[in-house]
Amino acid sequence: MTHRRRCGKPNCRCADGEALHESTVLSYSEGGRTRFVMLPAAEVAAVRAAVERYAAARATLEASGEAGRAALIARLAARRRER
Ligand SMILES: [Zn+2]
Repeated sequence: MTHRRRCGKPNCRCADGEALHESTVLSYSEGGRTRFVMLPAAEVAAVRAAVERYAAARATLEASGEAGRAALIARLAARRRER
């Protein structure tokens, strides 16, 4: 979520590649392209919390998907043994 970058201005402190600008960004995918939106400091905490909720919900969903798949594979294997 933290981006370090050069702004491109030749006289800026970031031009030597040492003191880069840091900004907090939210990266997201839209139409298969990765995009970034710069977050104002006042939004960072709320967005970070939302991203954590999303990650937790996604992990739960993936775990239930894997459990379902494991159950399916076990069921199919059992059926194969019955023949
Ligand atoms: Zn700069």
